[in-house]
Amino acid sequence: MEPIIKSVDQLYCDSLTSYSRRKTIPVKIGDVIVGGDNPIVVQSMTTVDTMDTEGSIEQSIRMIEAGCELVRITAPSIKEAENLRHIKDGLRKRGYNTPLVADIHFTPNAAEVAARIVEKVRVNPGNYADKKKFEVLEYTDITYQDELDRIRERFLPLVKICKEHGTAMRIGTNHGSLSDRIMSRYGDTPLGMVESALEFLRICEDENYFDIVISMKSSNTQVMVQAYRLLVEKLDQGGFKPYPLHLGVTEAGEAEDGRIKSAVGIGTLLEDGLGDTVRVSLTEDPEFEAPVAKALIDRYAHRAGHAEIKPIQDYPVNPYEHFKRHSEEIYNFGGHNVPRVITDISKIEKISEKEMKTVGHFYLPELDKWKMNDQGCDFVYSGSNLIPFMLPNGMKEIQDATIWTSGTDQQNKFPLFDLQSFAAAKKYHTQLNFLEIFDTQIVEAIALISDRKDTVLILKTENKHTMPAVRRAFVSLLEAKSEIPVVVKVSYPDQSQDETMLYAATDVGGLLIDGLGDGIFMSLEKEEEHSREEILEQIKLHNSVGFGVLQAARTRMSKTEYISCPSCGRTLFDLQETTAMIRKRTDHLKGVKIGIMGCIVNGPGEMADADYGYVGSGKGKITLYKGKEVMKRSVPSEKAVDKLIEIIKEDGMWNEPEII
Ligand code: SF4
Repeated sequence: MEPIIKSVDQLYCDSLTSYSRRKTIPVKIGDVIVGGDNPIVVQSMTTVDTMDTEGSIEQSIRMIEAGCELVRITAPSIKEAENLRHIKDGLRKRGYNTPLVADIHFTPNAAEVAARIVEKVRVNPGNYADKKKFEVLEYTDITYQDELDRIRERFLPLVKICKEHGTAMRIGTNHGSLSDRIMSRYGDTPLGMVESALEFLRICEDENYFDIVISMKSSNTQVMVQAYRLLVEKLDQGGFKPYPLHLGVTEAGEAEDGRIKSAVGIGTLLEDGLGDTVRVSLTEDPEFEAPVAKALIDRYAHRAGHAEIKPIQDYPVNPYEHFKRHSEEIYNFGGHNVPRVITDISKIEKISEKEMKTVGHFYLPELDKWKMNDQGCDFVYSGSNLIPFMLPNGMKEIQDATIWTSGTDQQNKFPLFDLQSFAAAKKYHTQLNFLEIFDTQIVEAIALISDRKDTVLILKTENKHTMPAVRRAFVSLLEAKSEIPVVVKVSYPDQSQDETMLYAATDVGGLLIDGLGDGIFMSLEKEEEHSREEILEQIKLHNSVGFGVLQAARTRMSKTEYISCPSCGRTLFDLQETTAMIRKRTDHLKGVKIGIMGCIVNGPGEMADADYGYVGSGKGKITLYKGKEVMKRSVPSEKAVDKLIEIIKEDGMWNEPEII
């Protein structure tokens, strides 16, 4: 980890240890106020064609009924911008006053029309006044200033209209669609994202226009979190007003992956009190987005008043760049090993070989062999319910220390101690012991483990401000220069599957983003009694959430990553159906990133760092990419997946799926 020491006074949030929401200025958007002391607002975006007035109204109503408080609608050209009036009138006639937001890319003239109709306009500073050519140009200070003058000229009319009509604006930077100007000077970095917004913000402030919300979205959760933090720091340092923040992870995908990825990005920021409005982007019908956003936000309604966490004086973590905390290699934890997944099976008595499929290990009785999928867990915790058969290679069993001490196999099984039993133990495993502690026991633990080279720490907390409490314990380890590998353990009482995904992604993902943690331990500890089938279901969920969190925080790639856009009125094909079809053929390509984008206008920019891209370029036509390079244009959609696979094969990244 980069040895920077940052005084907490210069940080991006009010406190790293005590929950408090950053104080922002209130921005009025119709009847909704974002920022100030107001609750965090949920928003979402329609996916039907904006020219389909009735369809847009119907879909907006479904979204509003699902909890959406601001409805965003794309306005790719003047005609769609004008049609926003009919959509707005239709909604008002049906008794819905929810404010509307026009989403603008490339078309200042559409923005200027929309700003007279709807309550808020979103502009993307990367493409408001620029067509992206993916060119690296050299700018002198003079030519750079000329560019800024050109932008001012293009953008000023919109600012004036917004001011005149009381329309709010979001300056929404996207990591994937930064202008060539910003790319040439700053690269596609968090700093470039921030500067992209500040260029537009300065113009607004010069005009005394302050009804602004800012976002810094990326599909890369590390970049997204760093950019928002840096934005806050630059706003404070630059003497700007503390504008409200709109949080989102772009192209998060669908189902479990989409939820986990969104929570890793959004949840991490919410933990530190950043964020005034949230949009979760899923490749699903938009009415499914608001409940996920709400579940993320609701966690903070009663967060203040949590148990005290010892304040931090100097912060030895760089919050603006990812550096993994240096840990020593113990067995296969820490050092350069990928973070490990430990899954708790201790509530299943006499687990069978067949039931191990819940943790990604498949027994083939006819061959008497084991196979593992991409999510075969590394360690299972059996507690006192010992596993009655020989485990496959690649998976190990952790037992409670009392059981291990009296057991017959003290070589291939590993003991888990608590603080007391660890201090009093007469026997330890020669290579790998686990010491499980609460965050509040960190000082005693450090004293016990300081000269041991055979122990991994399992860190958990009872504090409801979970991520910051565990982060504080990591700070103590860093201060003590302890390099012991640390696995973060989380356990939740009975709750929905969505909540488990979102909470684990926030509580552990938020640490991994900052390079803290050598593994995740999804525990059943707080679960009520359930039937065997229900517990097995829970184990399966825990195992896949464990891998999902590591992947979403970009610390261990165990599956194909789909960067699929949430779709909008520009979308040229059925995104959900197409994503499912592509996924079916490619989901064995571990670590490969595939962008699936609904339109060629924004798609190529927004698929960010995807290895391959499948982008709608006309009705029934797809353009295929390798990185940012076009490989095949206008492929008929019925042949496009085959052609995509051909490109992956030619690139040497294909392997045949294994049948398990
Ligand atoms: S990439 Fe997708 S969400 Fe973005 S503008 Fe195009 S179709 Fe809409």
